Amino acid sequence: MLAGGQSLIPAMALRLARPAHLVDINGVVGFDRLEPSESGVRIGPCVRHAALGAEAVPGPLGRLLSLARRHIAHAPIRARGTFCGSLANADAASEWCLVAVALGATVTLRSQGRVRQLAMAEFLLGAMTTALEPDELLVEAHLPALPAGTRVGFHEYARRAGDFAEVMALAAYELRDGLVSDPRIALGAVEGRARRLPAAEAALAGQRPHDAAFRRAAEAAAAEITPADDAEDGRLLARAAVARALSAAA
Ligand SMILES: Cc1cc2nc3c(=O)[nH]c(=O)nc-3n(C[C@H](O)[C@H](O)[C@H](O)COP(=O)(O)OP(=O)(O)OC[C@H]3O[C@@H](n4cnc5c(N)ncnc54)[C@H](O)[C@@H]3O)c2cc1C
Repeated sequence: MLAGGQSLIPAMALRLARPAHLVDINGVVGFDRLEPSESGVRIGPCVRHAALGAEAVPGPLGRLLSLARRHIAHAPIRARGTFCGSLANADAASEWCLVAVALGATVTLRSQGRVRQLAMAEFLLGAMTTALEPDELLVEAHLPALPAGTRVGFHEYARRAGDFAEVMALAAYELRDGLVSDPRIALGAVEGRARRLPAAEAALAGQRPHDAAFRRAAEAAAAEITPADDAEDGRLLARAAVARALSAAA
């Protein structure tokens, strides 16, 4: 299936993908729908990376989308590649997979005669692996809204601007009586798939948002991961990225 073509076409050019048939979904009426509402945003299968930011989606969710979007490749790729295509492609270093996992997004999958909705944890099975069946299309992703006042931060390290990330971390939390409430800390690119980090979140919950608390949460993050490649490097990158995402959110 051809959406933005920014992963599939390079794979075909390198003969890594040789599809017998190719269905171009770009002309399907309504597939470019982007519907922000109080409950979040609904994203159709042809919504481009470039369309997803604070100018289209209000509140902290829109701010977070803007922060993540700027790290996706280069402007021409952001103009063609799609949000749903990124989820379907499931690269371990996909910014949109990290955002979707951190926020508890749901995806709607449709085939002839069947529609099913999956949480990201059920959809994203591993590096480049999802629960999509061969006859299914990801027809919609829904990102839930973040409460007003939620602080958001995103930190990414890549060797060159526009490259896929070596590490990326997302942080979001609210403040109640000056203390961190409902923290979300998620990491991408270091393990096979993006995920939230429960030990890091527990270390931060109820703390005052200051550097010492951020460092403790970052230590917990480094301890709870199993990096796909070099374990020491992966932990070092995770610790630094989580601390910086938390500082950015503050
Ligand atoms: C040089 C370069 C740098 C890049 N850097 C980054 C980066 O830093 N971060 C990042 O996240 N991405 C990066 N990308 C990938 C880019 O974001 C792609 O746009 C994205 O991975 C796939 O979206 P697409 O719409 O282009 O999908 P396509 O290339 O059209 O399709 C990719 C795969 O997903 C399937 N698919 C697509 N849409 C659907 C759907 N709705 N339902 C079911 N299956 C579907 C296709 O069948 C295909 O197998 C980069 C790409 C390039 C070429």
